[in-house]
Amino acid sequence: ALAVPDKQVDSVCPYCGVGCQLTYNIRDNKIVFVEGRDGPANRERLCVKGRYGFDYAHHPQRLTVPLIRRLDAPKSGEFSMDPARVLDVFREATWEEALDAAGGALARIRDTHGKRALAGFGSAKGSNEEAYLFQKLVRTGFGSNNVDHCTRLCHASSVAALLEGIGSGAVSNPVMDVTLAEVVIVIGANPTVNHPVAATWIKNAIRNGTRLVVCDPRRSDLARSAHRYLQFKPDTDVALLNAMMHTIVAEGLVDKDFIASRTIGYAELEQNVAGYSPELMAPICGVDADTIRYVARLYATSKASMILWGMGISQHIHGTDNARCLIALALMTGQIGRPGTGLHPLRGQNNVQGASDAGLIPMMFPDYQRVDNPQALAKFEQAWGMPLDSTPGLTVVEIMHAIPRGEIRGMYIMGENPAMSDPDANHARASLAALEHLVVQDIFLTETAYLADVILPASAFPEKTGSFTNTDRLVQIGRQAIDPPGQARQDLWIIQQMAQRLGLDWNYGHVSEVFDEMRRIMPSIGGITWDRLEREHAVTYPCTTEGDPGQPVVFTEQFPRESGRARFVPADIIPADERPDSAYPMVLITGRQLEHWHTGSMTRRTAVLDAIEPDPVALVHPLDLAALGGQPGDVITIASRRGEVALYARADDSSPRGAIFVPFCYYEAAINRLTNAALDPFGKIPEFKYCAIRVALG
Ligand code: SF4
Repeated sequence: ALAVPDKQVDSVCPYCGVGCQLTYNIRDNKIVFVEGRDGPANRERLCVKGRYGFDYAHHPQRLTVPLIRRLDAPKSGEFSMDPARVLDVFREATWEEALDAAGGALARIRDTHGKRALAGFGSAKGSNEEAYLFQKLVRTGFGSNNVDHCTRLCHASSVAALLEGIGSGAVSNPVMDVTLAEVVIVIGANPTVNHPVAATWIKNAIRNGTRLVVCDPRRSDLARSAHRYLQFKPDTDVALLNAMMHTIVAEGLVDKDFIASRTIGYAELEQNVAGYSPELMAPICGVDADTIRYVARLYATSKASMILWGMGISQHIHGTDNARCLIALALMTGQIGRPGTGLHPLRGQNNVQGASDAGLIPMMFPDYQRVDNPQALAKFEQAWGMPLDSTPGLTVVEIMHAIPRGEIRGMYIMGENPAMSDPDANHARASLAALEHLVVQDIFLTETAYLADVILPASAFPEKTGSFTNTDRLVQIGRQAIDPPGQARQDLWIIQQMAQRLGLDWNYGHVSEVFDEMRRIMPSIGGITWDRLEREHAVTYPCTTEGDPGQPVVFTEQFPRESGRARFVPADIIPADERPDSAYPMVLITGRQLEHWHTGSMTRRTAVLDAIEPDPVALVHPLDLAALGGQPGDVITIASRRGEVALYARADDSSPRGAIFVPFCYYEAAINRLTNAALDPFGKIPEFKYCAIRVALG
């Protein structure tokens, strides 16, 4: 029986970018159960993570005391969950001692080796206010733009293409617009697993007549409900999408008025796709020419067509090109700027949109104002009262490569776990271990925290209040429901304490004071007051004045580029950085599972979710497994040129033959030890969706 709550607190889900509103039911400072609330994105629905993924906050492994690494403890790079080993490595400290050690060491590195010798990773799980203060600390306290977060591993290439092509990195239409669309294309995304409540809206739309086209090398659950499923070969997105555009041009299905009045660069695009006939591309992408033509016609001729995509598109060295093709498809057919149309990169973390908006990226101040733009620089120098660096900083993977070169010597990491989430994780761990000083602020002793010099125990999602921006650009409040355990403190307090030790005189009180400062310098949210958020529960940006209801559908009149017009950018086929060969004949695709979230630090400490998926698994085509001589449940070892892991094989015919899918949440089989750190040159995103591997039984 459910415990009778003594308190109820309205909040939002801490996991994915759908941004479901929920209610925490509390008894004796413990969450006892969670219910869905009638939010704009979920209408009381929750998935298994939102409903059951809360008891990590009460887990006995929570960090409750600041820790300082013992002088004689080597940074071996190997993670240990053994509590006895932990106390061999770290000693407990007071907050004053830990903050002085952390802030003092970083200040010394800055003063000795220069401002660019420091870097900071913030988190897309933190609030807008935490993201804003963290990037402000790096830009004003460290003095450089070396600040980034996990958007770099997620949709950075999509954002690069969107900013270039249509002037805004956010979605054009909310997920719920699928219910207004005649045709929906879902490509490189598995919403049933990664955005489950969004998937329910897509399924509801199908029931009402919407035609769904799923394009993915892996046959997702949603593909079973699709009008057409295109199982293209891994790494052949541009071939498939250019062939669709070729068809639309060849059959005269372009929207000439839209192209003439609202875009530039069409002639180059048309010339480029002329070389990509469906017949030529069919053997490359593995989809027959007739199906390519049929889907192209369907998309171009419907009254309203919408495209949603995920990391299958973005996590390639040609991720920006993949997204450029999707943008071009929408522009050439005029399928953007109206309800039920548009472009929707499904955002991963609950606040990856907001953290990016708040400037937690190395090349942009808040609201995507470039650091090397003299007007933007002057504006932020005036707002923050000091000179700022006008050189874009290093990105996540670049920072890991700069450490062994001695260019980055100290880091402050808040709520990120690069020892698990970075590509070529053995290299990332060695880099973290090589830092002169690493400060980690987190709620658990993560694989990254294990390499820290100072660990600052932080607050879990339900232990603090802040605003969060979902994939639809909806700003919502996550409210404090319980107190942090032991001496763990709220992140806004910790960031300010660190700022003071780096010479900044900060003294923000309530979180709304930070939000007020943000909205004064971020025109996109200028009309959203904290009172309004409290009153309306959710406000969509752009929202420029207090009377503005917010704009769920954008680009209705013009695009936010200097000319007001969107730009076509042609793309050609670029093969994956590392192709299979005789030594490594198969392909590794990484991603997520329904029950576990990213590096697993929260969901693997959640009783229900961990009970459903307790062990590391690899999804292998049954014929590939049989060829190995294996059975489902056998242990297999997967190796790439960078490392190897052992885990259980699961027979899964949704994966194409020759390709193995592994979730990246299992510390005991950390699959990112194998992935390739090669970067997309524009978005600087690593190629998580393709590297060469070999597999053996045992
Ligand atoms: Fe949370 Fe996303 Fe599930 Fe909604 S769909 S409950 S936001 S994980």
